[in-house]
Amino acid sequence: MNDIAIAGHGVTVRYGAFHANDDVTLVVPAGERRALIGPNGAGKTTLFGVLAGQVRPVGGRVDLLGREVTRRPAHRRARMGLARTFQITNLFGELTVAQNVQLTLAAEARAHWVFWRGPDMLRDRAVEVLAEWDMEHTADWPVRRLAYGQQRVLEIVLAMCRGPRVLLLDEPTAGLAPADAERLTSLVAALPRSITIVMIEHDMAVAFGLADRVSVLQQGRLLAEGTPEEISADQRVIEAYLGEV
Ligand code: ATP
Repeated sequence: MNDIAIAGHGVTVRYGAFHANDDVTLVVPAGERRALIGPNGAGKTTLFGVLAGQVRPVGGRVDLLGREVTRRPAHRRARMGLARTFQITNLFGELTVAQNVQLTLAAEARAHWVFWRGPDMLRDRAVEVLAEWDMEHTADWPVRRLAYGQQRVLEIVLAMCRGPRVLLLDEPTAGLAPADAERLTSLVAALPRSITIVMIEHDMAVAFGLADRVSVLQQGRLLAEGTPEEISADQRVIEAYLGEV
């Protein structure tokens, strides 16, 4: 049994002569919550793209749940149990909240499941899912009418509908008011430990509060890695990053 959920080894990504990731190794054991922090342009989103299969590295390898996936496309990694949210929400704004959930459930379910149980069952299941997240009252609202904080929660709900074993969260609390950020943080904290989480997070209170370990990127390279306590006391990290926050 392999207990590494997701790993990038020696990942290098170049845009022309510029190294967005330079020999980065990130190894996340199953069940861990890892925060990825670092200044703007450090290469965090690029590394997520490599892990999820949206960015092709010029060097290095990616392993997902015990298998090498470096050349596997994103949709195959998704089928293996990887889900990702994006900095900018990726929802169908004109559809209702429930329809967004239904679409995701339908895409995940085998065709025969939808066929046998029918669209009503799918709608019932969508409302059940929303209830688990205290969002059932929004089921019939068009997504564009949701507050921004609720849209960010819905993104995570949709990712969870895919039954992920590994969840990549790209700045889940970005742009949220403090109360919404707090709510979202507690929702993430309550996710089952069977799901490995890697999150990019600029808010240090959120990152250090949620993460078991923290990896720090700077100018495309891994600068430091450790527990929140170790990282917040690391002089290189303070100079490179925390000092300016
Ligand atoms: P932020 O915190 O601002 O989101 P980040 O750490 O996620 O930053 P990346 O988005 O990975 O950083 O970007 C790393 C560097 O690579 C940046 O300098 C960015 O301008 C550059 N970059 C990213 N994507 C491309 C691209 N498609 N073409 C050229 N340069 C790119």
